[in-house]
Amino acid sequence: MRAVRYIGERQAIVQERPDPRPGPKEVLIQMKAAGICGSDLHLYRHPRGAFVETGRVPGHEPAGIIAEVGSEVRGWSIGDRVTAYFRLICGKCHYCRTGRGNVCINRRGSYGVGPGTADGAHAEYMVVESQYLLKIPDDFSFEDAAIVACQGGTAYYPLTRLGVSGRDVLVVSGLGPVGLLATLFATHMGAEVIGIDPSPDRRAFAERLGARQTFDPTVGPIGEQVRAFYPDGADKLLEASGATPAHMAIPDLLKPLGMAALVGLGTPELRVSLNQVAMRELILFGTSIFPDSQYDEIWQFFRRHAITPSQVVSHRFPIEQGAEAFRLADTATVGKVCFTFP
Ligand SMILES: [Zn+2]
Ligand SMILES: [Zn+2]
Repeated sequence: MRAVRYIGERQAIVQERPDPRPGPKEVLIQMKAAGICGSDLHLYRHPRGAFVETGRVPGHEPAGIIAEVGSEVRGWSIGDRVTAYFRLICGKCHYCRTGRGNVCINRRGSYGVGPGTADGAHAEYMVVESQYLLKIPDDFSFEDAAIVACQGGTAYYPLTRLGVSGRDVLVVSGLGPVGLLATLFATHMGAEVIGIDPSPDRRAFAERLGARQTFDPTVGPIGEQVRAFYPDGADKLLEASGATPAHMAIPDLLKPLGMAALVGLGTPELRVSLNQVAMRELILFGTSIFPDSQYDEIWQFFRRHAITPSQVVSHRFPIEQGAEAFRLADTATVGKVCFTFP
């Protein structure tokens, strides 16, 4: 099969390698669509661990059909349309048992990202333990499912924790795929969305998806720009850029008692004025992908509002063009980049 491999900083190639075979508790997925996520780009820029040493396959947004079923797998058949919950969670701890596997305390890594304990989705085939399989609803595409597998859920979940509604002005900071998906969701939740991103193309994309206004943080202090139109600031904020200047601007963008969800992984340390957070009684909290228990609700939301995850896709590539796909996604000027497979 053909699979993407990182060979150095910002260098991806596509190489031929043996087709994987599923173990007794695993299935083989024949890939039909796979997304490139911001977390993939962190590794693409600075590959490490197994991604360099053994050529671990990247990618954690798989979608395809089951091509082979392990001998002990029950309830799944060849031909089933599936995606996967890419975190290798224990299924036994309190958080897993209550549907909050995203904060499992016994995680064994992930497929194709982070510590990357198993090969991922940027390949024609991928092996997945059957406990992590998720059925793709018949009325959505493989590409839709690839997006929901990480970025779709990562955008939806914090909006539910923020309790976003038609009463809110919401700032979406960073209009990459997660920010674009959040713009789409929040608009349909009834919020007035303000988008922030340095890329004019991304700002235009967000406006097409429903953002009321967008701002360029590079042309002047972003708090002043937004307050020229919203003197009180915003009620809520979703931080999806991971950039330190964006973190520092959060108190300037929010009303007193405002709330911010931090989604973007980038700079590991949060720099924000505690004085401003305290004096204005702001709430800042982190979120990490989405609870597995929210999977069906996310599809319901898309269905009810007649929208699809693939509305945020700007570019599609065959796996042969893995290098080009990563180069383009790395520019941070486009929407979602996906691989599609015959
Ligand atoms: Zn991701
Ligand atoms: Zn657990």
